[in-house]
Amino acid sequence: MTIVQTDPLQIPLPWQIAQWQKSLDSFGSGLMSHAQIFCGVSGLGKREYAAALTQHIFCLSLQNGLGCSECRNCRLILAEVHPDVLKISPEKPGSAIKVDEIRSLNEFVNCTSESGIAKVVLIEEADRMNRNAANALLKNLEEPPANTFFFLVSSREMQLPITVRSRCQRINFSAPDRRTTIEWLQQQNTGSESCELPVLLAAGAPLAAQRLISDACKQRYTALFTSLESLITGRSNPTIEAKSLMDSEQTELLCWISSWIAGVAKAQNSSSVENVETGCTNLDEQVRQVSLMVLLSFGYIVQRAFLDSCAVSNINKQLILENLLMSWQRLMRPRNIRG
Ligand SMILES: [Zn+2]
Repeated sequence: MTIVQTDPLQIPLPWQIAQWQKSLDSFGSGLMSHAQIFCGVSGLGKREYAAALTQHIFCLSLQNGLGCSECRNCRLILAEVHPDVLKISPEKPGSAIKVDEIRSLNEFVNCTSESGIAKVVLIEEADRMNRNAANALLKNLEEPPANTFFFLVSSREMQLPITVRSRCQRINFSAPDRRTTIEWLQQQNTGSESCELPVLLAAGAPLAAQRLISDACKQRYTALFTSLESLITGRSNPTIEAKSLMDSEQTELLCWISSWIAGVAKAQNSSSVENVETGCTNLDEQVRQVSLMVLLSFGYIVQRAFLDSCAVSNINKQLILENLLMSWQRLMRPRNIRG
């Protein structure tokens, strides 16, 4: 099933309502922090939230706190050509934000606001700034220009230098409870197909789960579970499987494994009703029988692999995956199976 997203997301999303009111109140009273990091796992609508807040700041004819999309400022913002709004993001997914892009903001912040309202610097995937870019931004955060707001959006805020983090107000977004996520997905016309596995893999983040329901994502996580299964049954080896999984974005892959293992451990340890089945029969059978200690050990190994994968840009990613799959194969040996 392929989702066709027709309408833009309506901000605030159900799980953002309280925070949205806080943001509007702080801006309305002139107390909004000049630098904020919108953080939380991927798929909570943080980027859309920052964009809506930007529109709120500039809109000449607000409708219930939201940009009208029709006034001059809204139209320029939506066309990404507003002279007082600078958006910075990686050129392509996963690439670094380099110092040249951040330097362009020095010029931007030193000009007078054309609208006379404010200036906004919006940095998407801010954790992708390389060290030089982060240092260049830091200078602006240390001596904030008047009436200029910096909105940083990050799903991996711990990857940002502490010097940057400490100068920003942290706005944390959390996944809603599982029922809210599932209800929201059903309202988005995702059809009757079960969304339980996508919700689990997305750690409950509704927009991420919505992406996972699409055919392309389903193929990728199915390939992942098929690989994990083939290593248990001895039909393949870690080198071959690591190579076959290299087409997928690695941090995403690791997040899926991590969320799934956490779900399996939770299901084993409580009366959770969450369905953690992957559809790969041998795999599901095996993880049901493995001890909680083994699951937690593997979860820890996945976390380490995730940090390694994020740490350095030119690291050997295939080797990270290969080591992880070797650990998986070793931990899933029959001697680790309960009773
Ligand atoms: Zn407007």
